Amino acid sequence: MSTTLEPSAPAPVTASETFDSLDPANGDLVGTHPVMGRDEVDAAVARARDAVDWWGNLSFDERADHLLTWRSVMTRRIAQLADLVHRETGKPHGDAQLEIVLAIDHIAWAAKNAKKVLGARKVSSGLLMANQAATVAYHPLGVIGVIGPWNYPVFTPMGSIAYALAAGNSVVFKPSEFTPGVGQWLADSFREVVHGRDVLQVVTGLGDTGNALCRARIDKLAFTGSGRTGKKVMAACAENLTPVVIEAGGKDSLIVDEDADLPKAAEAALWGGMSNAGQTCIGTERVYVHEKVFDAFLAEILAQADGLRAGADAGAKIGPITMPSQLGVIRSHIEDAVARGARVVLGGPDAVGERFVQPTILTHVPEDSTEITEETFGPTLAINPVKSMDEAVRLTNATQYGLAGAVFSKSNGLSIAHRIRSGMTSVNSVIAFAAVPGLPFGGVGQSGFGRIHGPDGLREFTYAKAVTRQKFAPVMNLTSFARDAATDGKVAQLITLLHGGKQTLR
Ligand code: NAD
Repeated sequence: MSTTLEPSAPAPVTASETFDSLDPANGDLVGTHPVMGRDEVDAAVARARDAVDWWGNLSFDERADHLLTWRSVMTRRIAQLADLVHRETGKPHGDAQLEIVLAIDHIAWAAKNAKKVLGARKVSSGLLMANQAATVAYHPLGVIGVIGPWNYPVFTPMGSIAYALAAGNSVVFKPSEFTPGVGQWLADSFREVVHGRDVLQVVTGLGDTGNALCRARIDKLAFTGSGRTGKKVMAACAENLTPVVIEAGGKDSLIVDEDADLPKAAEAALWGGMSNAGQTCIGTERVYVHEKVFDAFLAEILAQADGLRAGADAGAKIGPITMPSQLGVIRSHIEDAVARGARVVLGGPDAVGERFVQPTILTHVPEDSTEITEETFGPTLAINPVKSMDEAVRLTNATQYGLAGAVFSKSNGLSIAHRIRSGMTSVNSVIAFAAVPGLPFGGVGQSGFGRIHGPDGLREFTYAKAVTRQKFAPVMNLTSFARDAATDGKVAQLITLLHGGKQTLR
């Protein structure tokens, strides 16, 4: 293990082109960053490969020390980072702080649990191989490419970055072009902790920079973003047989049973649908309410929505739409629903402004409208009555996505939750699973595959290494040309004894 590397400044960037990140609330310039091309990306990956010689050979405890220091640095500078998140995404300062808080907790969990989850452990060698000692350990893959979105620019990529680092990999991170400053902040602060080493680097740019990272000599690519881009990422990674994790979009529902605590369910649906201006992969987009309590639930959520609004002032709890092109998508979903017969009970097509979208609630939304079938990613809720929980589960599962969801019921919450085809479900709360670091995070279907967070998230950035050590010579040597017919006979007897069983074919 070498610890003699001299601290170094980030390698000079030679890219001639630049791009700006803008404050979506007012268009103000937040920062200017280089558009890195293939050469810069390849150079960053080469430096990451050198750095992993040091980082990957540290003990779990030594890596944990560095990661826990980083966690403390981030905690002490939380106001500074939250301000940058606020300016690049437009989300309120308190929301920015909340996502950093969760990310900090994940770094700590990954650091403290990597040794237990990934360290060598004994495995029973079984009767046939009783002379062998068997162990499995999880080794780092090497260099991990991480491509992130803008909606949670700290929390979301951290689900890959912290777990990949804790497992002993180095990371090259391509943040969204809407939040490059946040990505740079994360890499700069980690660089301070590891005294200038290239263990976590950032490459900035647009889609082509992400494509260059997919094609570089990385050992795995963790992508979070839209399914549309996810397909391009998979295609590019396929060229080198580079494995991928895909964390894509969702169309999560919140189910309200007839015995639910309606004020709590309404509070959760409102926050799940409108917070972060609805730009949450695991946000609530659809609500299915038992018909017996539909009117009461609607009255409750409308009462709670009174005064909730989007704006740039301190009193507004909802920020702007971060990506301007999304405004057209949100408007088209609302218009499509209304054209097909949905009722507008709050907001509506006119709620979509130049930068902000006011809270919009639609009911009786046809199941074939885009407001139900596609990710809206805006502060809208489609609330529909259902005759039974069977119908709620069927409609919830009728989507191409399968990311997460929530159920409100006093007596049937868990049984309903287990029938939902999605990676994560909260009972009597929303998105609670994301804040439990020991739980895996990820989806099925068009929501992607692979898992971040928890033990599964640590193993995602490793390969399983199986080792057997012969303790004593075997009674029968099976792996030798010296094996004779008598031994074959004994083997047949032994396997019949072990697995012949009493059952015969009838
Ligand atoms: P996006 O797909 O537009 O971009 C994501 C990232 O991919 C960006 O960094 C972008 O520069 C990069 N990129 C674009 N083209 C590329 C290419 N050809 N090759 C490689 N990289 C390329 O997504 P977005 O708008 O930034 O994020 C919003 C989406 O992310 C939503 O669909 C949301 O549901 C999803 N999301 C999912 C999760 C999850 O954990 N499942 C979390 C947050 C966001």
